[in-house]
This record gives sequence, structure tokens and C-alpha cells, in this order.
Amino acid sequence: MSLAHGRPYLAIPGPSVMPDRVLREMHRAAPNIYEGDLMDMTASLYPDLRRVARTEHSVAIYICNGHGTWEASLANVAAPGDRVLVAVNGNFGKGWADTARKLGIEVEIVDHGLREAIDPARVAEALAADSAHRIKAVMAVHVDTSTSIRNDIAALRRAMDEAGHPALLMADCIASLGCDRFEMDAWGVDVMIAASQKGLMTPPGLGFVFISPKAEEARRALPRVSPYWDWAPRIAPEIYSNQFCGTAPTHHLFGLRAALDMIHEEGMENIWSRHETLARALWAACDAWGQGGVLELNMPDPVRRSHAVTAARLGPPDASRLRAWCETQAGVTLGIGLGMVPPTDPAWHGFFRFGHMGHINAHMMLGLIGTVEAGFCALDIAHGAGGTGAAARVIAGAAGGNASA
Ligand SMILES: *Cc1c(COP(=O)(O)O)cnc(C)c1O
Repeated sequence: MSLAHGRPYLAIPGPSVMPDRVLREMHRAAPNIYEGDLMDMTASLYPDLRRVARTEHSVAIYICNGHGTWEASLANVAAPGDRVLVAVNGNFGKGWADTARKLGIEVEIVDHGLREAIDPARVAEALAADSAHRIKAVMAVHVDTSTSIRNDIAALRRAMDEAGHPALLMADCIASLGCDRFEMDAWGVDVMIAASQKGLMTPPGLGFVFISPKAEEARRALPRVSPYWDWAPRIAPEIYSNQFCGTAPTHHLFGLRAALDMIHEEGMENIWSRHETLARALWAACDAWGQGGVLELNMPDPVRRSHAVTAARLGPPDASRLRAWCETQAGVTLGIGLGMVPPTDPAWHGFFRFGHMGHINAHMMLGLIGTVEAGFCALDIAHGAGGTGAAARVIAGAAGGNASA
């Protein structure tokens, strides 16, 4: 008998759980796109997006997914033949680098493998070797969703400054914005990209590019930019439709309005600590399970782990068996492993990921953990006892002891 009937829970690293409030706001008749409420509502999104990213700079909104923002960000700062440096520790860093290469940009990679955070000293070394200052941008993923490593973006900026290199600093925050602390201006980031379907709790379909004045200057120096990706008309529109290079993504914008209201009602500091506490509860469970079995987290160093996604390793084929059991028997979908080995390799069935970004709370995390523990038992997967209890203690220790707080 399956116990999956009830509300399903998609615990993968994006798309994330969509709040009913976001969906309700989208459930409406088509609005007038030439005048009226839509204009004011759209204008209200920009300051609230800036507050999420802790920036005073410009933000362009695109109708696209994360891959679109990879291309948008590059199209405005580098021409074919220009050079960029990409610090990589996972599939998403590789993907952004591939996009650059396909645009005709020369790419230098500083590869950190799959289990280590980006080392700013190695990036500084590569910049020091570039005495002609050919490198136009240093690119890094804040949280690489495949390895769940959270890189220190502020330290990268310090390394660039110490090297005296003028390159732009570009960060992919698609998996981290609205989950992990990110401070664009204080950290000296020139271009930051994000998408709607992760920490921003809105269906896939909106991409965001945040742009410092220095990056705007780099755009102005390019001979040409492909018209759809050009951020200049989007951040300084002459008419409303310039913001979207055509018809506005009307319903996504209404959904985003509700999501931003929810985000700022809770507050960025509270959101970051909620994600951190829930992540620590999950890691405590995983540590307990790992004591008596083979489960292991991909990123050994907790200091540089994401608070929004956790990549784990289990002997093949148990990760795939566990995912199937949780989905069909309990209504929880876990994420597949990404970028560890090719999908054709039998070892592929030994990797999986927990998504815990956005609209999730303590009971959802405890349900996820309890379900995985039940799956271990049902499938006879060796594991240490007490995972769910360890997680409950982390949550008990962090949540208010007082029933009203
Ligand atoms: C999800 C994700 C992407 C890709 O986003 P898509 O919407 O699937 O194109 C890129 N980078 C990071 C860090 C991501 O988490």
C-alpha cells in the first residue's frame, strides 16, 4: 500500500515549493499591458528585488530560466575573442563557462574538483599571470547546486583587489538568492544572476541580472549586443514594454509580487537563519545515519555548505532506490545527483540531492528527514540510528521555546 496520497512535496533544488499565495496572485484574468495597475505593480518589484540582493544597483528582468541569465550576463560584458576566468566546483560553473565558450569568448578555468570550495589564492595567482589584463571578468557560482558547495564570493573580490586586477566579478546566485546570505554591494559584485524558481518561490520563467555601474560601463564599451539580451533598454526603458523586450510576463510578475511580499514580511536575516537551521537539522540527521552506513555528504566542510541544497552519496544503486521509494510510497521527491558521473555509469545511482530552498519550514524538513529514514528501513539500507531525533534536537534548540514567539 502506498502512503503517497496527500499533498506531494518536491524536495529537489528547483523548481522549489510554490506558496499558495503566489499561485493565487497569478490566478487572474489577463491584465491590460498598455496602461493601468500592471505598470505600477511592475515598478514596485525593482526596489524589492534590490533589497533581496542587498544592492542599490540596477536589475534587469528577463523572460527566461537560469541558462538565459548565463547568456544575458555574458552578452553585455564580453565580445567574441574577449577572455574570462571561471572558478569551477561543479556542473553549474562548468555550464556557465560552456555558455561563454559557445559565445566565442576565451575561457580560462580554475578547476577545484567536486568537493572543495573555490580557493581565492588560486584565482589571484591566475590573475597575477594576466599582466596584460586581458581577463574581462572573473565568474563564480555562489552555490553550485550539483555539489552543494557555497563559495566565498567576498573573498574572491578581496583576492582580485589584492592582485590589482580590473576584471569584473560575476556571481551566479540562482540557487542561493533568498536562501543564503548574499550582499552584492558589500561584497563588491559587479554582475549577479538569479532566477524565479528557487529561493524566490515563483514558477520557472523569470531571470534576473543585477548590474553594477562598472558593468554598465563595460556594456557601453561593446560594439554590439544581441538585442534580446541587451540589458540597457530593460534598465532604462523608454516605454513599458522595453523592460521585457516585448510583452510582459504578466502572471509571473504578479506571482513574484506576492513572493517578494512574503520575503520582506519575514525579513532577509530571518530567511537566512531559517535556511541555515533547517540545513543544520538535515546535516545532523545525515551525520547520524552515516555513523552506521555509507551515507556521506558531498561537501565535507560544513562551513562552506549551501543552506538550500545538500548533495549526498550512498552506495549505488541505493540512492536511486531511495528516491523511488520516497516518491512512490511517501509523496516526497528527492533530487537526482548531477555532474558526479555520467548517467550511463552504474555509479550514477549512488548520488542524490535534497532541495531545501524557499518555502519550507520545520515540519516539512522533519517530514523529509523522517521519510528518508523510513525509506532506509523499508529498503534495508544500512544506516546509523537516531537521524530524525538528531534533527529534531537541532530544530528544538533553534526555534523559540515560547509558544507564541
Ligand atoms: C538551477 C541553476 C541554474 C540553471 O537554471 P535553469 O533555470 O535550469 O536554466 C544555473 N545555476 C545554478 C547555480 C542553478 O542552481
